[in-house]
Amino acid sequence: MVTHIKKRRHMSACEKCWSDAQRNSRWPVLSVAEEYQKLIAVRAAHPCTPEEQAGPDAAKCPACGRMTLHQYTREAMCGCASSHDI
Ligand SMILES: [Zn+2]
Ligand SMILES: [Zn+2]
Repeated sequence: MVTHIKKRRHMSACEKCWSDAQRNSRWPVLSVAEEYQKLIAVRAAHPCTPEEQAGPDAAKCPACGRMTLHQYTREAMCGCASSHDI
């Protein structure tokens, strides 16, 4: 898993799209990152749920109780107040 992509505020990668991108990747024709960007664009109209975006190892959001704290960044994908910034 790529963890060196560090973006600020609400830009945590969608873990579901990442795993789909890795599965679909046609490297070297299209890198996983490019495949991911494509998936995000295609799914823009129907984004993944906060739980899916946060990943299978997500933590529980203290505000809403959903498993929506991103597994790597601990960003609240559910959109609750982000007091979890790192
Ligand atoms: Zn997604
Ligand atoms: Zn929440």
